[in-house]
Amino acid sequence: MEIQRWYSEGLRFGCKQCGRCCGGGSPGYVWTSDEEIQALAKAMGLSRSEFELHFIRLITGRRKSLLERKNYDCVLLASDGKRCSVYNARPVQCRTWPFWDQNVATPTDWARAAKHCPGCNNPNGKLYSQQEIDALREQF
Ligand code: SF4
Repeated sequence: MEIQRWYSEGLRFGCKQCGRCCGGGSPGYVWTSDEEIQALAKAMGLSRSEFELHFIRLITGRRKSLLERKNYDCVLLASDGKRCSVYNARPVQCRTWPFWDQNVATPTDWARAAKHCPGCNNPNGKLYSQQEIDALREQF
């Protein structure tokens, strides 16, 4: 049985390609699985070990995250600062943005996410159904 969420009427989202979620001046992590690293390496024409050497950091000696630049931009952000340079191979964490638990748990969380991401509530964006949002939440 489907749980009734506060967003049972859906939420609208359409990326405006501002690049804030990939940088924005504060530190963070982009978690990457071994399969995702393989896909990213392939997209860049690199071996997995070359990719890991240049773009991956180990956190607590175990989990893998993409590196950040000195300004905290994701290392894979394109030089225009607005696009992902490997968009089609981006990790699940990026694919499921902004429908993360922390952003959609309550209307307040969503409003906070919308302050950071102009794609949230974009009237020209796609209306995601509760079912679609819940499926995205389960992925990350
Ligand atoms: S912050 Fe939002 S609108 Fe800007 S690039 Fe990221 S998803 Fe798109």
